[in-house]
Amino acid sequence: MLLTGTVVVDSATVIDEGAVVVDGTTIETVGERDELLDRYPDHERRDFDIVAPGLVGSHIHSVQSLGRGIADDTELLDWLFDHILPMEGSMGADEMRTAATLGYLELIESGTTTCIDHLSVSHADQAFEAAGEVGIRALMGKVLMDQASPEPLEEDTEEALAESEELIRQYHGAFGDRVRYAVTPRFAVTCSEECLRGARELADRYDGVRIHTHASENLGEIETVETETGMRNVHWLDEVGLTGEDVVLAHCVHTDETERDVLAETGTHVTHCPSSNMKLASGVAPVLDYLDRGINVALGNDGPPCNNTLDPFTEMRQASLLQKVSQLESTALPAATAFEMATVNGAEAAGFEQLGKLKPGWKADVIGLRTDTSRATPVHDVLSHLVFATHGDDVAFTMVDGEVLLDDGEVVGVDVEAVREQAQTYAEQYS
Ligand SMILES: [Zn+2]
Repeated sequence: MLLTGTVVVDSATVIDEGAVVVDGTTIETVGERDELLDRYPDHERRDFDIVAPGLVGSHIHSVQSLGRGIADDTELLDWLFDHILPMEGSMGADEMRTAATLGYLELIESGTTTCIDHLSVSHADQAFEAAGEVGIRALMGKVLMDQASPEPLEEDTEEALAESEELIRQYHGAFGDRVRYAVTPRFAVTCSEECLRGARELADRYDGVRIHTHASENLGEIETVETETGMRNVHWLDEVGLTGEDVVLAHCVHTDETERDVLAETGTHVTHCPSSNMKLASGVAPVLDYLDRGINVALGNDGPPCNNTLDPFTEMRQASLLQKVSQLESTALPAATAFEMATVNGAEAAGFEQLGKLKPGWKADVIGLRTDTSRATPVHDVLSHLVFATHGDDVAFTMVDGEVLLDDGEVVGVDVEAVREQAQTYAEQYS
């Protein structure tokens, strides 16, 4: 397939009248449109205004999609224990499947081609199957909770780890290696030391399995961890083995200097979720300091009930604006940096190689966008447009691994109306 438009190769390279040629699951070549049209006259063709790498949402909760809007104006721990965990605990297999499918549809409809997905305690297999059906690329895992958790979510430690291992055997590398496994403790508050150490041991036994958890999102959370362990949260996670180049920590809003040293020294990835951090009044993550220290910072929407959208363009905009206003520095976190966080940094966090740029030999995860709107007139600078003015609705085309998932704005291969109708019906019990 041949895709034409203004081609955003990466944050530093744009081809004004360009084209991308896809062969199988990878990008064959990228270059000038007229030259490539001459070289590949018989290729199936799609024409767009902008062609860009698919975006990477490095922290989401697809299975919370039925709870969009149920817990606004609430801080994290009340939001979680009073609203979200009761919802997750009451969801059966069919509800999980529908919620996850809805989440993945929203992602591919708005330009996210890869996600790091934090599921729930039960019925995680349903989300894996949903990812396979929709075709999204994902690092994902069943949630572990073995202490301080409401019924019926609290699990026996060994059983929780055994179920995780079963899911690794079944789904790690599944669907043409689009789906990989992350061992996923909820956060230190709801996981025993045995559980956290077990998560590390389990991840170490399987090549490519990563670890993903929440960390230092909220002041109440870090106080609880410090009371129970005598340590700052990141030091505690480091003590039990949950730092390193295969670990992705969501949030890291409240960290001190010594914790940031640990993150940098261990190569731990951080996912910044600006909308969620603002909506739950969690705070402002020290993203600029992390980047200065060489810490890989990716970008995530978090879940539909704390954002309340999975639009990746909104998240890039929020990431930039939040640093500018909190630092009172207009040059802070420019568009190029936000774009890197949502592309290559996310790919690095998720552990997918050759992903996040439109380069020959790299994975064919590509999006096509239209600019025939008043909001997109004019486009002086395409990167600025993508970060500050684009909405997910501007995405007309989404390709993962060379497979077209969204074509002319329509999802391919999934009955979207049926999923939405089912989701609406299931969601009524949570309002
Ligand atoms: Zn989260």
